[in-house]
Amino acid sequence: KLLIENVSKSFGKNQVLQDMSLTVSDGEFVSILGPSGSGKSTLFRLIGGISLPDSGSIYLDDAKINGQRGSISYMPQSSSLFPWRTILKNVLLGAELNGKIDEDKAVNMLERAGLKGYEHAYPHQLSGGMKQRVSFIRALLSPQAFMCLDEPFSALDEFTRVDMQKWLLNVWTEYQRSILFVTHHIEEAIFLSDRIIVLSQRPATVKKEFVIPFERPRREELLLTEEFLR
Ligand code: ATP
Ligand code: MG
Repeated sequence: KLLIENVSKSFGKNQVLQDMSLTVSDGEFVSILGPSGSGKSTLFRLIGGISLPDSGSIYLDDAKINGQRGSISYMPQSSSLFPWRTILKNVLLGAELNGKIDEDKAVNMLERAGLKGYEHAYPHQLSGGMKQRVSFIRALLSPQAFMCLDEPFSALDEFTRVDMQKWLLNVWTEYQRSILFVTHHIEEAIFLSDRIIVLSQRPATVKKEFVIPFERPRREELLLTEEFLR
């Protein structure tokens, strides 16, 4: 269980997160929607231990993880592939943490993602959407039960996106993972999630929550809540 308690974060005078609290239960799939620049990636960096909150705490299964990298499987919004490692070596990075390296599985997953033949290529030889799938596989291969995925499918064509969504749902149910997911695609959030959290404009705080399917939000309702297109 992930518990975010009264977390605030500013950069100079720019208050990005204000007193944010949210919970993701074990096995839950929660999506976050919010305007560009509202602070979603900032929140994810705090959860991933990449940066520290000014105040507030983040707990994973009751242990405080402020500033602790590697507690969760984290896929950042922009590519974090190591340029000097091959694609295969890149996807195995997460698995290396606990020494459970399964190369055959990694090769199968690359093939599943349409990247057969690229195992020994380097990141600069791949397109943006291909690199995004490599980062996605790295997150899937990481051993942690809790995953934070920051717009993992934003660079993919519609066909590949839907294919990856279905794959993620399979992995999620098969391995009983808990997922916190950022997207700008309302349909994607509705399709994937148990619950959708809508953030306000900066400073970001939880503005509204929808539980699915019990109160499946209508697209128009989300758009109004969000003032998405402003
Ligand atoms: P998008 O949907 O476009 O990805 P986001 O909700 O993920 O947006 P963030 O990347 O979290 O937004 O940025 C929120 C705010 O925090 C922005 O105003 C941004 O300029 C600021 N910000 C983020 N990181 C830093 C940093 N390291 N230093 C200074 N300002 C930052
Ligand atoms: Mg972002």
